[in-house]
Amino acid sequence: MRLEELTWPDFEEVKRRVGTVVIPVGSVEAHGKHLPLGTDVFAPVEIARRVEERLRRRGVEVLTAPPVWYGHTFVLDVYPGTINVSGDAFKAYVREIMREFAAEGFRRIVLLNGHGGNYPPLVLAAEEVSEEFPGVEIWLINWWIDFREDILSICSSQGHAGQDETSVMLAVRPELVKMENARGGRRSSRVRVIRKDIGKELFPDGVNDDPSLATAEKGEAILSVVSEKIARLLVGE
Ligand SMILES: [Zn+2]
Repeated sequence: MRLEELTWPDFEEVKRRVGTVVIPVGSVEAHGKHLPLGTDVFAPVEIARRVEERLRRRGVEVLTAPPVWYGHTFVLDVYPGTINVSGDAFKAYVREIMREFAAEGFRRIVLLNGHGGNYPPLVLAAEEVSEEFPGVEIWLINWWIDFREDILSICSSQGHAGQDETSVMLAVRPELVKMENARGGRRSSRVRVIRKDIGKELFPDGVNDDPSLATAEKGEAILSVVSEKIARLLVGE
């Protein structure tokens, strides 16, 4: 059930029987020379769609909200096409969206996040909303971290625009993936270094992993295990 497709009387009726809203959250940012700028939104939107489908088969309903497209992406802002929102503005914006859902009566808000830079502001936003609405529970899911073990049983490596993310995109929007440009390697630093142009070092060309072994089959396997596990968590299995 997609929020944006309902009328307000439909919504009023839905919120009486559905307690969970799922909000995909992403980022518009550079993902190498081979993946589209919207990768971090396409992935969680597809996971949300599959979670809802799996829950429907179990007779459980959730409401899926439109995604938050723009995120906080300091590190990748060194590349063209990255549209970075400051951490403060992003935190406040997502907090206001969650407050509205809490005030409408939703008791569980699931932030299905597709982008690492969003994580710190999302935690702060969630804490503020839960202070204000004690009966409300917020789940913050980072699919590539929370299900890392499963992903690494499918892919030999993972990372930004890497094997896992590229595989998922090959499964979701293959026409947007330019595999002939898919190259890169793993970079890391011993401590967290924050500097305006650090992205050029840590994410050369906007990549931090080798994406060349990505396949649609791996992407399909990731989407399947991640959506099944989220669906199980939501029904308390
Ligand atoms: Zn990404």
